[in-house]
Amino acid sequence: MPALTAAKKSSRPAARSVPHAPELIFGDLWEFDPAPETAEPKLKSRYDLFINGQFVAPKGGKYFDSNNPANEQKLAEIALASPADVDAAYAAAQRAYEGVWGKMPGRERAKYLFRIARLLQDRAREFAVAETLDGGKPIKESRDFDVPMAAAHFFYHAGWADKLDYVAPGRRVAPLGVVGQVIPWNFPLLMCAWKLAPALAMGNTVVLKPAETTSITALKLAEVFQDAGLPPGVVNFVTGAGEIGAAVMNHPTPAKIAFTGSTEVGKIIMRGLAGTDKKMTMELGGKAANIVFDDAPLDQAVEGIINGIFFNQGHVCCAGSRLLVQESIAEKVLAKLKTRIRTLRVGDPMDKNTDIGAINSREQLDRITALVAAGVKEGNALYQPSCKLPAKGFYFRPTIFSGVSMSSRIAREEIFGPVLSVLTFRTVDEAIEKANNTAYGLSAGVWTDKGSRILKMSTELKAGVVWANTYNKFDPTSPFGGYKESGFGREGGRQGLLDYCKLV
Ligand code: NAP
Ligand code: MG
Repeated sequence: MPALTAAKKSSRPAARSVPHAPELIFGDLWEFDPAPETAEPKLKSRYDLFINGQFVAPKGGKYFDSNNPANEQKLAEIALASPADVDAAYAAAQRAYEGVWGKMPGRERAKYLFRIARLLQDRAREFAVAETLDGGKPIKESRDFDVPMAAAHFFYHAGWADKLDYVAPGRRVAPLGVVGQVIPWNFPLLMCAWKLAPALAMGNTVVLKPAETTSITALKLAEVFQDAGLPPGVVNFVTGAGEIGAAVMNHPTPAKIAFTGSTEVGKIIMRGLAGTDKKMTMELGGKAANIVFDDAPLDQAVEGIINGIFFNQGHVCCAGSRLLVQESIAEKVLAKLKTRIRTLRVGDPMDKNTDIGAINSREQLDRITALVAAGVKEGNALYQPSCKLPAKGFYFRPTIFSGVSMSSRIAREEIFGPVLSVLTFRTVDEAIEKANNTAYGLSAGVWTDKGSRILKMSTELKAGVVWANTYNKFDPTSPFGGYKESGFGREGGRQGLLDYCKLV
């Protein structure tokens, strides 16, 4: 391939100048060739609604654009559903539940789920590219995390479908019926898999609304459902903004609704459904504490802290957005963190070397910018590397605030961006008190050499997940969900299945 190499080299843009030491930024040293799919992604120019096994035009005839947050270019048009389309989707789901899916033996449903998992694996690269283009996350994350984990959820739940008698030992379980689901934009395909796989394994049928800015991979998943021969109406996708989400949640048909998104919207939905007998699960916001004790393996902890907050641009409900570090090692840890974030590559998400990709939307970028400005105004010490950001698209430098107090907005509010607030503590009890002093309770991290301390912390921290000497690790077998304003109900594992069935 020497000719190709030569041709590629000649088309490279001129190398950027190396910034002055000591601010040596790896991201500014090299330019890489664009990935081939950047120019020609396998996307349709228009995506219709997916109702009753078919792609159908929205009744109102309207479409909206889905853009690439990395360069602000239009990727495709997405159907704007109306309440009449939501009615049609629920009618299809009801027919599919009563006519086919609800009465199909679990061992037969399992075959469809296995097929979906395998087809998703077959098209893994295509899905990873679509996810990165539509949402802005680095390709190495969509390739190595989102898509394989989505397939893993279908495999895992396929394995359960013929063993449902063991979900609640001593009891028999039955599906609930039709389920309405609404998901956010931070893990578009993975959230589909988290929500759909347990619902389908249990024998329910679904109407799901993806987030407005990231509908493409859900609609590509609909293609997989068609290829897998999934009976029409078992899964229906309606696309649009918050009003359509509200129409999905408030519709009379579903026996259960499942929502992942902000606490604010979760509360609106719960108010709307108060007094009904619908079953609900809510996966809401978070403000996790990543707690580092003085006996922790520090370099490993620094990697965990970086992964905890900068993974997926901090667009992670369980992000370790508060670092609680023991006072005696605070300076050392902060110095290591500053050195480490200078080496993070911020930029084109399609570049496989990128660590921090694009912020999902201008709206979210504005929200992050405003909260960081509030953090500065409150007198917290800000550190950002001076890396160059692409001229077009939505980007935010990795940011560390140190000397943060508990009352500061950046210690209390979910920023949902690559921003870490560093606080200190002296004793174990103070660490627990500070970690729990939040309205949220989704996750936490503990870094220490002592097993007994890990056990104490995991018992006393009011968080659905506590990672020990690691962070942001997921597995379909492990239930995920919150305490307090982070929601209720679990996704994953046997516990997740219990939220999609009734005991008979
Ligand atoms: P969001 O504004 O609450 O939106 C989530 C979804 O709800 C979107 O599909 C949205 O539609 C839709 N929606 C908006 N208003 C609605 C309404 N009144 N009724 C029904 N649906 C409505 O949240 P986001 O900003 O997209 O996502 C970030 C939030 O999700 C963060 O707070 C994060 O912590 C949380 N999250 C939690 C988990 C978890 O497992 N706990 C996982 C991921 C994210 P449009 O986007 O089209 O407007
Ligand atoms: Mg988009």
